Amino acid sequence: MELKPATLAGPTLAGTALTLIHAGRAATRSELTSQLGVTRATTGAITAELRDLGLIVVDSGPGGGHQGRPSHRVVPDPEGPVALAAQVHPDGYAVALVGLGGVIAARRAWHAPVPADPGLVFGEVAEAAADLLRTSRRRCVGAAACLPTAVTRPQGTAIRALYVGWPDGSPVRELFAAELTRRGVAAPAGFSAVNDVNAIALAEHRHGAGRDAGHLLVLVAEHRGVGGGLVLDGSLYTGSTGLAMEAGHVSVDPYGRPCVCGNRGCLNVETDAARFLESAGRELPAQGPILDEAIALLRDGYQTDARVRQAADAIVERLGLGLAGLINVINPDRVLLGGMHGALLAVAPGPLREAVARHSPWGHGAAIPVEACSLDDAGLIGAAETAWQPVLDNPVLIRSLPD
Ligand SMILES: [Zn+2]
Repeated sequence: MELKPATLAGPTLAGTALTLIHAGRAATRSELTSQLGVTRATTGAITAELRDLGLIVVDSGPGGGHQGRPSHRVVPDPEGPVALAAQVHPDGYAVALVGLGGVIAARRAWHAPVPADPGLVFGEVAEAAADLLRTSRRRCVGAAACLPTAVTRPQGTAIRALYVGWPDGSPVRELFAAELTRRGVAAPAGFSAVNDVNAIALAEHRHGAGRDAGHLLVLVAEHRGVGGGLVLDGSLYTGSTGLAMEAGHVSVDPYGRPCVCGNRGCLNVETDAARFLESAGRELPAQGPILDEAIALLRDGYQTDARVRQAADAIVERLGLGLAGLINVINPDRVLLGGMHGALLAVAPGPLREAVARHSPWGHGAAIPVEACSLDDAGLIGAAETAWQPVLDNPVLIRSLPD
């Protein structure tokens, strides 16, 4: 089943209310009333409906309010339904149950080589996910997998899964859905598959450092390579077929290193964790978490090891050039850097922001904030967002959940 798109009419009023509560933008009934622009009676009816659906808790204790009149707190029900999120990356897997509010209720992660047969991959993921769900006894609204590859929309196909060696055109969403269904996991709101950095961007927008940004650009040096995501007015920008924002394949050096895409000098190969480790004179581990090693080396060695600093500064320069190009095209109001790029910003904030400004036609004039991603497990949380979306658009959909 394809992820149900929002209806042409947009989310229902109850959906808008649930989204505000979910994203932490309304903590009381009075805040909901003012944000929805409706009467207190209408808000009362909506919150009662969301409570009866098992989605929120309305706490009659004082929660603020005006002129000494307390307003009821409204929060996601901590025992409510969950979305099932799975993540596959070149060094392993993670699965999680994620409630409203982006709260991870249960999580399991493990390092393992990822088989070249995607059916085996999703079988392993589905086994762990089904077990997590059985143990938690929470109801499941939908399931989504975030993957280190672009995924087409609406088909859910990985045209070329460059980092995990899956066959071209693998029907990843179908495979994920089939393996979960085989293990008895029902997902009334649908099964979906999403690119990992797109998932991170969505999670950061709703629950992290990207809150309230209108045009949020996210760039992440992940386990392998570099990816990008763009959230426009709260929704992922995916292009015409889901393949947009492959920012990792922006070239910053036509004579640079060859990239898996066939070009040279892409951000993917000039600013990723492997490039940094090699430039710093470290051997790449044959198997294992390259990303963790690169981040640890940056944090520990930037101030004390000249070779580490030189390698990091060279990446800062290339990243600044690529980032400026993206900013010039998109004109975002906030930029977030994640993975190793976030760590780079933490150790060299001045040089990185300076490099961006140097390559911008507006110099420092545009003054776009460049900050670090703030969430742990943003990939899982973002995948869960896509699974939750149909319910956030229309909460009564939850009625079709099996008990
Ligand atoms: Zn490339």
